[in-house]
Amino acid sequence: MDSEFLFDCPHSAECGGCNYNNIPYVKQLEKKEGRIRGLFAKLPGYKSFKPEKIIRTAFPYHYRNKVHGVLGIKKSKIICGLYSEDSHRIVDVKDCLIEDEDASAVIAGVTELAGPFKYTVFDEDRERGFLRHVLVRVAYSGGSKKLLVVIVTAQKEFPRKNDFVKTLVKRFPMIETIISNYNPKRTSMVLSDNSTVIYGPGFIIDDMLELKFAISAGSFYQINHEGAEKMYSLAREFAGLTGKERVLDAYCGTGTIGMLMCEKAESVTGVELNESAVKDAIFNKKLNKIKNYRVVCADATKYLTGLNGEDTFDVVVMDPPRSGSTPAFIDAVVHSRVKRVVYVSCNPETLISDLKLFIKGGFKVIKAVPIDMFPGTEHVESIALLHRMSNTRERKITLDVETEDYHRIKNRTEVTADATE
Ligand code: SAH
Repeated sequence: MDSEFLFDCPHSAECGGCNYNNIPYVKQLEKKEGRIRGLFAKLPGYKSFKPEKIIRTAFPYHYRNKVHGVLGIKKSKIICGLYSEDSHRIVDVKDCLIEDEDASAVIAGVTELAGPFKYTVFDEDRERGFLRHVLVRVAYSGGSKKLLVVIVTAQKEFPRKNDFVKTLVKRFPMIETIISNYNPKRTSMVLSDNSTVIYGPGFIIDDMLELKFAISAGSFYQINHEGAEKMYSLAREFAGLTGKERVLDAYCGTGTIGMLMCEKAESVTGVELNESAVKDAIFNKKLNKIKNYRVVCADATKYLTGLNGEDTFDVVVMDPPRSGSTPAFIDAVVHSRVKRVVYVSCNPETLISDLKLFIKGGFKVIKAVPIDMFPGTEHVESIALLHRMSNTRERKITLDVETEDYHRIKNRTEVTADATE
């Protein structure tokens, strides 16, 4: 079966999306596992453990639940493809191996409808034209697939909007919602802040383990559903919760990891910088009727260093962006009551440099598992569990005793000490 996953895409050289193209999946897994092992070997105390076997994606094709197409003209025909690597030239990718096939079909469908609806295509150089990008996101709800479609346009007015929506939904009944996004600017950002829901509720709901999460046009959501479920389950197992712990879910996004831990925790606090992700997290909390999760919109380092003992945590779960966390964040964890850290990372290099700081601060890496969330590409996710070994936390104990009592206690201690001699 595995020998069938050859990743032999004919567009790869031009597109540049899959840099592990033409490498059979089994070999890709070996390469990623070897890279992680090599990096962990640089850690002090490495000899006491080795990263575990990589967790694979069962079916490594068509896993991408977020698919983007950019519209352009080639040989006087409207096409929708991907920007070639490091340029704004559009590659007309057909049958992409990693994109969700229904999402790709919707993008092709929108492209086909452009002609009959007499829609022009945006010309970047002349800054003229209507259709610019199509973005499709995929969710699974109650066992069926639901699609969110964003039509990015460079003109505010959407001609024959209702007709277009009706035609598209009739052709693709999986479409749950359509959003029109007005983005006339010269920018590499696909979406602007100017969105209007033109069909359905404006979001889709994804069943993730036993909870439900809303996915809106712009919020972060793991792009490989199967990989995310495996990763979140492992994060929960690593956290070792008994129902009594106070958990910090740092870099929480829309609250996925932390909310999945709520049932086994006393409380979970999410910290996230992006305002729209925080709004989604509040929505997700209500959607799942969770009482013991709260989310703070802040920079994770500023939040933790600014607590001044107001709040304490037993477990930290952290999932920072590619750049990793900060020495100040790690230092604040080291000088706190936190006993365990679960570190989820999409960049092994920054993971290793952050782990070195934790180790210096008295933590030990207990386990590490690579997870392949991005077949076909060199990217690899990892999850590491750290336990506090030595107590580097500053202890400040204030004894509030009267002088008379102090002498009584002191004398009694001495008497007891004498008696045992
Ligand atoms: N744990 C989430 C999201 C992880 S992606 C999930 O699995 O879905 C990393 C998140 O960190 C993003 O949502 C990003 O907006 C957020 N982020 C980036 N820099 C941050 C900072 N300095 N402080 C807090 N959050 C930050």
